[in-house]
Amino acid sequence: MSSRVVMPTRCFCPELGGKMAIEPQKVEVQPGGIAIQWKDGHKSFYPSKYLRANCGCAHCVEEWTNRRILDPATVPDDIRALDYMEIGRYALQFLWSDGHYTGIYPFTRLRELCPCEECARAKPH
Ligand SMILES: [Zn+2]
Ligand SMILES: [Zn+2]
Repeated sequence: MSSRVVMPTRCFCPELGGKMAIEPQKVEVQPGGIAIQWKDGHKSFYPSKYLRANCGCAHCVEEWTNRRILDPATVPDDIRALDYMEIGRYALQFLWSDGHYTGIYPFTRLRELCPCEECARAKPH
């Protein structure tokens, strides 16, 4: 009788590397911004103003040209997220203190927006 080896359910296949689903494990609205702990162990912190200024909704970015209509200077310095909602399994939507709530931030975009040093280094400038 040999005992069965239980394999870990997590997959570490290297070829999945770039394609691994990017999903937050934990999202926390903090006084200064939004903290996201990702399932791959990465931690991001987005200052509220930065995230609000990067809103990609039709009110903030022109749909066809991708031109940013929102002037970041018009975002109040004391802007904060009052609440957030998970949209399906692919995005977060924030309710901002300036009343803006139409912005949907797909996880992949949030990850791109991560302002940490590690991600800044990985990004081509
Ligand atoms: Zn917007
Ligand atoms: Zn990062």
